[in-house]
Amino acid sequence: MAVQPPPADQRIVIENVAIATVDADDTEYARGHVVILGNTIESVGDGPAPQWLDNVVRRINGEGHLITPGLVNTHHHFYQWITRGLAQNDILFDWLVALYPTWARIDEKLVHAASQGSAAALLKSGCTTASDHHYVFPKDGGDVLGASIEAVRELGLRFTALRGSMDRGKKDGGLPPDHAVEELDDILTASEAAVDTYHDSSFGSMLHIAIAPCSPFSVSTDLLRQSAELARRKGVRLHTHGSETAEEEQFCKELFGMGPTDYFESVGWLGEDVWMAHCVHMNDSDIAKFAETGTGVAHCPSSNARLAAGIARVPDMLRAGVPVGLGVDGTASNESGELGTELRNALLINRLHGSPAALTGRQALRLGTMGGARVLGRQGEIGSIEVGKLADLALWKIDGVLHSSIADPVAALTFGALPPLAVLFVNGNAVVEKGQLTTVDEDRIARACARAAKELAARPL
Ligand SMILES: [Zn+2]
Repeated sequence: MAVQPPPADQRIVIENVAIATVDADDTEYARGHVVILGNTIESVGDGPAPQWLDNVVRRINGEGHLITPGLVNTHHHFYQWITRGLAQNDILFDWLVALYPTWARIDEKLVHAASQGSAAALLKSGCTTASDHHYVFPKDGGDVLGASIEAVRELGLRFTALRGSMDRGKKDGGLPPDHAVEELDDILTASEAAVDTYHDSSFGSMLHIAIAPCSPFSVSTDLLRQSAELARRKGVRLHTHGSETAEEEQFCKELFGMGPTDYFESVGWLGEDVWMAHCVHMNDSDIAKFAETGTGVAHCPSSNARLAAGIARVPDMLRAGVPVGLGVDGTASNESGELGTELRNALLINRLHGSPAALTGRQALRLGTMGGARVLGRQGEIGSIEVGKLADLALWKIDGVLHSSIADPVAALTFGALPPLAVLFVNGNAVVEKGQLTTVDEDRIARACARAAKELAARPL
């Protein structure tokens, strides 16, 4: 059952709390208040909340806590929750070839379990909005996209479900096995149906659909072109993997006579309505093209490290004005599945470019909040703590033994261990309390995921 929005006239007051609003001026309050009215933010500011407020159903003393916007995840593959810890020492192409045959045997029941595992890990690490790039649609697998949407609804996570696809199998020079790909016309029909059935573009929507052919080496040029036309006709966003590895760059040069960014440009895939995962192997011209067109980037530092893909030039992208958000990526290449820990990983990995100022703690927090909101096209609704925006908020406990000696609350969150999550609000609902999901029984999810992983591993290839 879907989590319902709270009554529109109900108030929740949080006081005595450190606040990082991540608004345009990076406004912070050492000891301030946030008032939630229904599913939106009614007020935020210094000192205590206004005294005249009525219908206050809950008051939280935020002493020893930091409140931030809920984190926004811009790249993931939820189904991979049940194929973690495999192909442990491979680069991307070998890792994909090892896993495709297993992934081609998923079905709606397994995807439901895996999606709840993925969504639970995101929520428990402070994430309030997530996108899930689903591109594996086995012929007899049932409604796998519908299963992921239903699974997420039960947990109360704000969601962008991506109708992904692959149509370039091995026989067409692609990487996936031929039995794991779909026909182009079937993909376009199913993608349009997904938008018509599910996409809700209203303010405060809990569900967006975007169209997301998988990658240059697993989809045809025609599919990229026609997906872009379809998405623009329907008014939804476009997503894919881009410039992830040196091997992908070589593949594009051999097959298309140009690098990935030039290839995407040639098929109409640069623009404000497009975001791409990884963007590790980008030259100055590629970054300039992303900046000029407003094309977004989902930066996935842990996955890039796990697969030894390289380090994305995030500081250069930010300087150029490219919209950048953070992504967990699928949990077959980032087994933790937590978005909160990516703040610290982004901070540390980008400093390996050679400068301790390459990315600050506050920039890392911005990537994980407003950056992600912009990449998903929702900067007017989420990503910062501002009056009128949706009440998607993370309340972190920073006075425990792991953090109490760090005076700067934002440093406690971004440089220190991921703090315990006291409360996570999505759409005004407390969906996590003291680190535990409130909407469903976590142990039930754990058991279902263990069963699903075993069942998938036992299916004949
Ligand atoms: Zn990915």
